[in-house]
Amino acid sequence: MIIIMNGKTNDADVEKVIQKLHEMGHKVHISRGERRIVLGVIGDVENLASVPFYAYNGVEEIIRIIKPYKLASREFKDFNTIIKVKDITIGGKEVIVMAGPCVVENEKQIFETAQQVKASGAKILRGGAFKPRTSPYSFQGLGEEGLKLLAQAGKETGLAVVTEVMSVNQIDLVAEYTDIFQVGARNMQNFVLLKELGKTKKPILLKRGMAVTIEELLLSAEYILTQGNYEVILCERGIRTFENYTRNTLDLSAIPALKRLSHLPVIVDPSHATGRWRLVSPMAKAAIAAGTDGLLIEVHTDPKSSLSDGAQTLKLDTFTQLIKELRPIIQAVGREFNIPVEGELDRIKN
Ligand code: PEP
Ligand code: MN
Repeated sequence: MIIIMNGKTNDADVEKVIQKLHEMGHKVHISRGERRIVLGVIGDVENLASVPFYAYNGVEEIIRIIKPYKLASREFKDFNTIIKVKDITIGGKEVIVMAGPCVVENEKQIFETAQQVKASGAKILRGGAFKPRTSPYSFQGLGEEGLKLLAQAGKETGLAVVTEVMSVNQIDLVAEYTDIFQVGARNMQNFVLLKELGKTKKPILLKRGMAVTIEELLLSAEYILTQGNYEVILCERGIRTFENYTRNTLDLSAIPALKRLSHLPVIVDPSHATGRWRLVSPMAKAAIAAGTDGLLIEVHTDPKSSLSDGAQTLKLDTFTQLIKELRPIIQAVGREFNIPVEGELDRIKN
């Protein structure tokens, strides 16, 4: 249930309503917009039926949210969530590019990649240290060593970093190094992990599972939000269909659908969605046209030697070219892209 109060209601009057809800045994989630203040009450609200909330100053409307997800829904918050990471904003007017290797392999690889993607216009460096590989015989990542290298490369280039956390017992360690936690497609219905991440104060990049509906993705986000962490970035990364030319099928319609259903930022990962580097650029462009808030792209100094996902990984110069080609599309859809100043690449290299 949500209680909508006028945006101009004074704090004391808002507090009276919250107080009453607490007295009745409910947790309250608050969303403050300019026009309205929304109090979200989640769970069994039967005992509130007899409370005359309309008699409280500032209360304008009481609505039951029919959708199974509540805090993630547009009903709860009718303006977009904008997530701030360092000086970056995700979910605002600017389209944010996150790029880097599938997995952090060594110092040279991650530092060179970081410098180049930064120079091309990426704002966030990605790189796995704990990898959810389908086969237990595949390279599983460098663990803490990988986290250290990623964080150092981020620090040196001024990029924020994102990396995957696979289990509850990795949260504290990963938190020491990352700016954003990534929850992978294979783990996004690990509800114990989601709840624990909901108690942290860092943004969560939540990938859609390969057989997960839009509603289920939003319910996974809801697990995090209910714990008090409202900074969730949804990521469409392709779903499994009968088509096997591509690794997955990029569900482009998920972008406008999620934007309609939820206030959370939405990004697209065309690398895992296609599994083929040649398809990454066209799908990245399509994602921008469909309204994505950002892209997550795999880039490597030498994709053919990559220890993971080489076939879908862009070379540095292909990535730079892609970014150049994205600019007119970003402008055409009325979004922004903060172009790195001319000569930035040379400055970083020297
Ligand atoms: C990744 O981004 O490193 C990854 C493993 O992707 P996904 O969880 O979407 O398969
Ligand atoms: Mn990968």
